[in-house]
Amino acid sequence: MTAAVLQMPAQSPEERVRALSKEFFGASAEDILERAIAHEFAGEIALVSSFGAESGVLLHLVSRVAPDTPVIFLDTQKHFAQTLTHRRKLAASLGLTDVRDITPNEEEQQAEDRTGDLWRRDPDACCDLRKVRPLKGALDGFDAWVTGRKAFHGGGRAHLPAFEWNGTHFKVNPLVSWAQSDVKAYTEKHDIPAHPLVAQGYPSIGCWPCTMPVEEGEDVRAGRWSGSGKVECGIHTR
Ligand code: SF4
Repeated sequence: MTAAVLQMPAQSPEERVRALSKEFFGASAEDILERAIAHEFAGEIALVSSFGAESGVLLHLVSRVAPDTPVIFLDTQKHFAQTLTHRRKLAASLGLTDVRDITPNEEEQQAEDRTGDLWRRDPDACCDLRKVRPLKGALDGFDAWVTGRKAFHGGGRAHLPAFEWNGTHFKVNPLVSWAQSDVKAYTEKHDIPAHPLVAQGYPSIGCWPCTMPVEEGEDVRAGRWSGSGKVECGIHTR
């Protein structure tokens, strides 16, 4: 007589991220990335990077696990020239072989922001046009993405788990428990090139119309959409 084969019920995405976050609670960023990139979501995961002030750390970590990991850079066409130069130099120096520059849809730009100053009138709509929709397209075909969010940035980032499910994709947050001092120490230890604007008082860097330098002691993200009440571009909230 043939023994019956027991079928385990499939895990839901929510159960899967709960189990992973529990297993990797307190784990190092390297261990989280190794599991996510080489095993859990192998071939189905991308890193989304702004090539901003702290991005070098995660790009460096990913380059050590798998330098051919797809890296999505949202080229909003509103970046500082220094960011575009930094993106080219950093990707080359880390040996990243699959950095993808994702630009907004040309027809949508013509229809919604022909004069290029939508950021002034409706920053949420501008972020939707230049970041949220392009990222949605770029992530088609991927199951998961890696983010550089850290709890010390505060707001909705203060209590993130290492693994999340947003309804369409898994998100992996390997640096969530890092302090600002950890970022600094890792950057110095590995001699990672700094974004040129950091030395000019920009601890968080996005598009030029929506990024200001901050004073000593201010929150890291205080210069983003300063004075407008807006705190996120929407790629993590929509
Ligand atoms: S950060 Fe500013 S310029 Fe960049 S997409 Fe958002 S609103 Fe537009």
